[in-house]
Amino acid sequence: MSSSFRVQFIGATGTVTGSKYLLSYGRHRVLLDCGLFQGIKNVRRRNWAELPFQPSELDAVLLTHAHIDHSGYLPALMKQGYHKEIYCSEGTKALCKVLLPDAGYLQEEDAKYANKKKFSRHQPAEPLYTEEDARKVLRQFKAQSFAEPVQLPGGMTAEFFPVGHILGASAIRLTYEGKRITFSGDVGRSDDLIMYPPKPLPASDYLVVESTYGDRRHEDVDEHQVIADIINRTAARGGIVLMPAFAVGRAQMVLHILEQLRQQQRIPTMPIYLNSPMAIRATEIFFDLHEQHKLSREDCQRMDDITTYVKTVEESIELNNRKYPAVIISASGMASGGRVLHHLKTLIGDPRNSVLFLGYQAAGTRGDALTHGADHVKIHGQYFPVRAEVHNLQALSSHGDYVEIIDWLRHSSCQPKQVFITHGEDCAADAMRLKIEDELGWRAQVPEYLQSVEL
Ligand SMILES: [Zn+2]
Repeated sequence: MSSSFRVQFIGATGTVTGSKYLLSYGRHRVLLDCGLFQGIKNVRRRNWAELPFQPSELDAVLLTHAHIDHSGYLPALMKQGYHKEIYCSEGTKALCKVLLPDAGYLQEEDAKYANKKKFSRHQPAEPLYTEEDARKVLRQFKAQSFAEPVQLPGGMTAEFFPVGHILGASAIRLTYEGKRITFSGDVGRSDDLIMYPPKPLPASDYLVVESTYGDRRHEDVDEHQVIADIINRTAARGGIVLMPAFAVGRAQMVLHILEQLRQQQRIPTMPIYLNSPMAIRATEIFFDLHEQHKLSREDCQRMDDITTYVKTVEESIELNNRKYPAVIISASGMASGGRVLHHLKTLIGDPRNSVLFLGYQAAGTRGDALTHGADHVKIHGQYFPVRAEVHNLQALSSHGDYVEIIDWLRHSSCQPKQVFITHGEDCAADAMRLKIEDELGWRAQVPEYLQSVEL
């Protein structure tokens, strides 16, 4: 008789954030992904809830990729007693070195702000973890090559498979006593500009698949043309194009597009500034690991040649005094914080300028308000009139839509007897469940927060 093998869904249920799956087998326990809940307050509150397991009793942690909603709870897990290995791909380890300390810094800033405004129920407000905690947890990371399975305590094997999305992103298949369960992680595009398409999944008895775009398709636009038109129109007016961009992935993709447009002489020669310390470091990692994406060393060199890196705060402030046409790429991607806010304050009120958002804008963010036509925007407690052109180019998403994901699954060797749909808002997850049942004939369900199933 085989011993029990269970999976518990501790995040990414009814939301795209907080990914965490607990695997229990024999006397052993493994956590797959360790993400932070983000977005609206009721969801974020779960970051402070007691975990349904003892972190010190875990045998291992596995990570699909570096995004904070998959890795950002790790320093908190360490603070609660987890001191063993965190297995992931090389790209994930490199990016976590940049993303986790930044997340710790933001937690500290939020706590400071809450104390200043005295709106926290806890006096004084404490950060979930600090930048220093985040640096400490990096020592537990163990990079794994895609070809090499990891042998975990108690006879469990883990294998990593590349799925596009961002550098290092992986699906993970776990095998225990002949039973196989595969977690898709976040799945990339079938025809991404910089990342390879996801590799077909291996044979599996169970599948956990994401559904961010379970009910939506990406619009079919020529992103090069859209960007060239905005830049040319803005430059002709003597204006500046500001692009709020996510530091990992989107910033590198837009630099690549700009480099191609420049080479094809479809945009005039003008300075291109990358103003975000995190995006600069993510770009360096992207250049270093060039065998893990579509761009060659020469492509990366040309991107590097056209970019002016803005490193210090002084240089960033100085940039706001420039009056001639330029492109400024800065984080955060939804204008919820970071250096982009200072540029937005300076540029948004002048009709010669343009602001180009580059992807999904979560409800309640400035990016969401601006792309929906807000005529004023509040930044640092002050209102600014919106007179610049504002656009959103959603087609640059790093997630496959449901047609891309169903196609990918159809061409895999997966054939699971049960699929679990996670990592989507309720409507998106349910739409994905129906499509998988109708088009692939696989049994699918949408698990609830903290639900546990026996495999
Ligand atoms: Zn992701």
